[in-house]
Order: sequence, then structure tokens, then C-alpha cells
Amino acid sequence: MPDFCDVALPVPLDTAFTYAIADGMQPVIGGRVLVPFRQQRLSGIVVNLHDHKPKVQTKKLIEVLDPEPVLDPSLMRLGKWIADYYLAPLGEVLRTMLPLGAEFKRMISYRIAEAGHLALHEAGMSGSSSRSRKTPDDQLAEFRVLDYLSERDEVKEESLRAATRVSKSVLTGMVRKKWIVREDHSSARDAARVVKVAVLRGAEGKLNANQRTLIDTLAAAGGKVPVETLHALEVPRTTLGTLVKRGIVLMVEEPAGFTMSALKARPSPFDFQFNRAQQEALQRIQESVNARKFSGMLLHGVTGSGKTAVYLAGMRSVLDAGRSAILLVPEIGLTPAVAADLRQIFGDRVAILHSALSDQERAEQWHRIKRGDARMVVGTRSAVFAPVSDLALVIVDEEQDSSYKQEETPRYHARDVAVMRAKMANAVVVLGSATPSLESYFNARKNKYTLLELPDRVEQRPLPEVEIIDMRQEFQETGQEQVISRRLAQEIRERLDGKEQVMVLLNRRGYSPLVLCRTCGKVLECKNCAIALTHHKRSHRMECHYCGYVAAIPKACVHCDSEYVYFLGTGSEKLEELLHGMFPQARIGRLDRDTVRGREDFERALNALNEGELDLLVGTQMIAKGHDIHGVTLVGVVGADAALGFPDFRAAERTFQLLTQVAGRAGRGQTPGKVILQTYFQEHYAVHYAATHDFSGFYDKELRFRSWMHYPPYSALANVLVRSDKLDETLEWSGVLGKWFEKTRHEGTRVLGPAAAPIVRLKRDYRYHFVLKSSSREKLNALLRSMLAYASQQKIPRTQVIVDVDAVWLM
Ligand SMILES: [Zn+2]
Ligand SMILES: [Zn+2]
Repeated sequence: MPDFCDVALPVPLDTAFTYAIADGMQPVIGGRVLVPFRQQRLSGIVVNLHDHKPKVQTKKLIEVLDPEPVLDPSLMRLGKWIADYYLAPLGEVLRTMLPLGAEFKRMISYRIAEAGHLALHEAGMSGSSSRSRKTPDDQLAEFRVLDYLSERDEVKEESLRAATRVSKSVLTGMVRKKWIVREDHSSARDAARVVKVAVLRGAEGKLNANQRTLIDTLAAAGGKVPVETLHALEVPRTTLGTLVKRGIVLMVEEPAGFTMSALKARPSPFDFQFNRAQQEALQRIQESVNARKFSGMLLHGVTGSGKTAVYLAGMRSVLDAGRSAILLVPEIGLTPAVAADLRQIFGDRVAILHSALSDQERAEQWHRIKRGDARMVVGTRSAVFAPVSDLALVIVDEEQDSSYKQEETPRYHARDVAVMRAKMANAVVVLGSATPSLESYFNARKNKYTLLELPDRVEQRPLPEVEIIDMRQEFQETGQEQVISRRLAQEIRERLDGKEQVMVLLNRRGYSPLVLCRTCGKVLECKNCAIALTHHKRSHRMECHYCGYVAAIPKACVHCDSEYVYFLGTGSEKLEELLHGMFPQARIGRLDRDTVRGREDFERALNALNEGELDLLVGTQMIAKGHDIHGVTLVGVVGADAALGFPDFRAAERTFQLLTQVAGRAGRGQTPGKVILQTYFQEHYAVHYAATHDFSGFYDKELRFRSWMHYPPYSALANVLVRSDKLDETLEWSGVLGKWFEKTRHEGTRVLGPAAAPIVRLKRDYRYHFVLKSSSREKLNALLRSMLAYASQQKIPRTQVIVDVDAVWLM
């Protein structure tokens, strides 16, 4: 065994740390180890084993957590690529790839130190008045802690904080003063939970009634049932023991986490009766998979063209060949109904990873995949790291969806990681969408990807007719600002009279998005962000949609105390109320983040619409994505073009995508659909092309604009954000970096900034940014890397300079 190992730790530092390997320990590359780091214990991944004694004193490994690698060489390679491409610390990347946090138990404890006893004694002698510079609250808190610890040996952090009601920062301050000592006893927790499972081996010989019941239950469930389930039957527990003794039933232990019960044999929800285009697309995918070479494909299918059926058929043939596939979906697409369908098609071979899983459940699913029990993986962003072996096919549904970009370190884009993973595995990647991103469509046009098109809806259903309403003209004709135009109101009435269903999109939640003072002209803003607070009527409060800050509804202006405060604009909550007023007979539901707290709420609202229990559904972009509800014949779009006013080069693309997606909800059943699109930007090409279902028209126009402005896909782009809760620091640091950019040669790369970010204050931080555009990704990354090195030299903390490569949001 080598003497040393390098460990990547989940800390914001671009380096691995060397530890000495004690006798008898056998760490492996790609396996986890527990190490001391500063005052804590951390779990990290071994990236290298060697005999080079470092110049500095090394600490020893505490424990080897995995005898075998948890990240195989291909995933390690992928992790290094991500760290390199997105300029993220490798340890943080590897932690993101490995959802095993539940297997590591944090245990921090405190005990009182000599100086603490002394301080407590002094306070007892002189009273507390001498420590005058601190607030009495903090001081009292500290003495509560000292008092509590003085009578005990060592106390766990949770117990200490519960007993003394102090914040972590008070404890940290006391550790710094050496009044108390912090000990980290964190350790590996027992691996995944196991359950006892009974397995049917064959039923020979005579059986009594009780034995028969157990055997029948086992047989009906496919031969495997958790023992717990059998114990719940009305059969004496000894019966099972008898069957085991006779060799009819075998007892095994299996990791918990997969529901083997209740896989009823319903008919498959997808008939794989394909039209010609679907058939061709499937065939191309299958041929490429069989070639066992990397290949990228873009499946561009209009809304309602049956893309999902193609994905699932492709995955099923991969499963039949004994290989593995991963399907990525945006969060909102992964409803429980979809999960049920997947279980029916793939049985116990599918693992479903979504954000509602607990850490424990996530770890269990990870082990099922790693063992090869589940070879079909369906999940959101991080499912791209699923540890499958013999990967044949990766599918990214709604590949343009911005939820694939992680908005914290590592800021990876799951679609792009999927492409790279497929490349490394000689697998096929299929990107699917009705509205592909400019980047992906550009790659297809350049023949980097094979373009597969599904130009028609299934069963020759027509795309909906779109009518544009110019809201400026509506204002001139009616003399007031309307939310629902006369035309839309009339159409809604007709549909409701005809017992048809309607959806209305307003992509802004809350009641009123703006509170304005008529005396001083100021807007009521969040305490932590440069963002107007939104009025929420039902919960009776003001809310910041960016940081969650909540305030009371103002009776007077907070700036000048004037009582002339006005609530302006309309959010989805107010729209629902308006529609109730206009159509009192209609059953109206609302779908936005205020009404949907969990996946069940979401499912319930869509089910109600599907079952005909609702006539009208109002909502934000949540209603736009992927649902297949046949009764909806009219979609109204209210103010969906507001984003066109944002200072973001992707605003037109996003608006086009949203309009196309929501329009796609209309007319998916027997009756053709119609869309009424209300807009203040009637001439804008994003509105025009969405209304005519002309993707390639939009694409050509938008591409010309991107080319002029040197934006992606014509350049590699990065956003560098400098932030601090102190304005002075933000200005100083961005000035320092700005000067460095100025005097550093960077051919082929344009640096814009420093400038105030469009949202100049967010979650208490002041924000300045640089936008970098480069004709060469290598040059861009090299420049960013030296900028980070310079920033660290200048003592600017790594966490305060955010590098976002291929940034999706520039706000
Ligand atoms: Zn005022
Ligand atoms: Zn805020």
C-alpha cells in the first residue's frame, strides 16, 4: 500500500489534500475516506495514491469508508471534466455526484475549557456589568452555555442548543475565545437499511390453508415479498418458518427502498402503435445504440407528437438487450402518474429519482442502481450521475428547460453533462423538445447531432389556431387597462357553455406584483433584495419571490409615511378572483407555487382537470409543461410576454418557448384547439413566430441576432459575479478584478463590466458582474482560471466570486 493519498474534499478550494495512510488501511481511488480537516471531520473521495512525502506535515486518515470505489473510473473522469469545464472545486463536484450524505453522520459536541471556567468564575465575582461592549442578549447566551457545560462532561451540539437556545454563531465565537472546545466525532453510519424478504422457490408437497395463503401471496407478487407484508396477513407467524424449513421459501436480506408490492398488471399506458415519423425516429435511435459508438441526436417534435412514447420504446429495447439507460426530465414533468406508468413498463428494473426523496431514500436508490438491480433510471438533473454500468442510451426530455442548470456550485448543465457522459461511454444521447434550445438546434444544423423530426401531432390532430390580441389597441378602445380582453372573455364564455375546458396562463404569482407610493413615487422593496415585494391576498402578507422575505401589508408608505399607497398589477391569485367574478358558475382551479406545495397538490389539480371536475385552470408556467389533458380546447395567454422587457439576451428565446409550450396544451383531444395570445409586443418576432408555429423562422431570426451580438451559440459565455453583503467590498473587489482584466491580454475574449447586475441586491448581497464572451472556450477557461488565481492572491474569498460558465441567467 502507498503511504499517502490525495483526497478531494467538499470545500470551496481548488485543490486536493494529502493524508497519510495508517497501517492496515486500504483506501481506493474513487472510494470515500473520513479525514480531519481544520476543526472538523469530512468525508471525501480519494483521487490519488502515491509515495511522495509532502513538504508539510500530513495528518492521518481517520477511516476508510469504502473498500470498493463508489465512483468508477468513468464517473471520476466525468467529475474531473465538470470541475475543469465549470471551474468548480473537484471535491464539491464529486459530492454532488454522490448522493450518499445519509451514510455519513455528523456529530459535533462541546465541552468547557479552562478559560471558560475562569470567565464564569469572574462573572460570578464581579457581576456582568464589566462586559459592556456587547449586547446583553449575547452575553447572557454565552453564560447560559458556560453554566450548562460546567456541570457536564461533553454535550452534543443539538442538546446544547436545545437547552440554551443559542445560535451557532455564538458557539463559534466562544470557541474562538477558547472558552469552549468543539469536538467533531462525525462518522460513517451503517450503510443502507435492509429488509428481510421472502423468496418463493417452488411449492412441492402438501400444503395447509395457511401455507397456501402465503404461497399464493408470494406467487401473485412475482415470487418476492417483504417478510413484514407476510406478517400482516392473518396467518400464524410460525407458518412462514415451516415453509423455510421445508425449503419452499428462502429468506434473504435486501436493501430497503423499493416497493415490490402493488405492481398490478394494468395494460401498458402507451400503445407502441407508432406513426411513420415515430417509427423512423425509434429505428434511428436503436441502430445507433446497437453500433456502440457515441452519437448525439436531437428529437424535435411538435407538441403532442408522441416523443415520450419514442423515449420509452427506445429504453425498453435497451433493457431487453441487458444494457442501461437514463432518462432526464425537468422536475415538473415527473408526476406520480408518470412514475406509475414507468413502473408498469419497466417493473422493478426502474429507479425513479426526484427531489421529494429523503437523503436516505436517495442513497437506497443509488445502491440499487450501483448493484445493477435497476438499469432504467428516470430522474431530474442529478440523475445524470446515476452509477449504471454498460450505459447505452441517455435521453434528455425538454432539453431547453432551464432547471437542468444548477444554480449553485458546481454550476453544471445536466444536458451538456449528459452529452459528455454518453461520449465517454460510447453511448447514444437523445435531446428531445418541441422548442429546442438555440444551442442544440445549431449543433443539429451543423451536423454535430442527427436531427430527428416529428412534424405532426399523433392521429393527425391539427396544431391549435393562434389569435393575437393587441392590448394597446384594447386599451384605446375600452379606455382602461384590461387583464382579460373582450375577445378572450367571449371565447372563454363560449367554451364553458359548450362544456369544454380552458387554461389561462399568467406567469406571475401572487395578487399584486407592485406596491407604489403616489406621494414619493417609491416602490416597496424587499429588505434583502432590490426586488419589489408582491402582495399575497389570501395569506395576507407581502412576499419576496427571490429570498422568501415576508412583511406585513403596509398601511402607509415606509419611506414618507404617506397613506397613498397603491397596489398595482395582476398576479395569478388576482386573475383567479377576476375570473370567478366574470364566470360565477365555472369551477376554477389555480396552479402555481402558492397552491402547489408538493407533488401531490400538483397531481391533484391536473387530475381534477382530467376528470372534468374543473372547467378552468389558471396558472403560471407550471401549467405550460408537458401535460396531456384532452378536454382543453382553449388556452388564454395573459402577459406572458413581460419577459421580453428583461435585460437578458435569452428573453426572446424563453418567451418563444413558453408561448409555444402553453399553446401546445390546446386541442390534444378530439376537438381542435385554439389559443388567444394577449400581448403588448405584437410586432416582436418571438410572439409572431410562436403564433404561426414557425420554429425554424424563429430560429433563423434569433440566430442572426446572436451572431451580431456575439452571443451563444456563436461564442462561449461566462458570467462572473462578485458579491458581498457590504457594498464597499463589492465595489472594491469588482474594481480590482476589472483592472486586472484591463491589463491582462485576452485575445478573442470580450470582457464587459464591471457593471451592477440587473438585480443589484439579492439575499442581502450587493452584486456586480462581468460578462465574458469568447470565440474559444479554451481561452475563456484559461482566462477565468488566472482571474480566480489573481482573486485568491488578492484575498478575495472564493465563495464571493462566482464563475458561471454557460450562464443561463444573467440577472
Ligand atoms: Zn412614499
Ligand atoms: Zn428578497
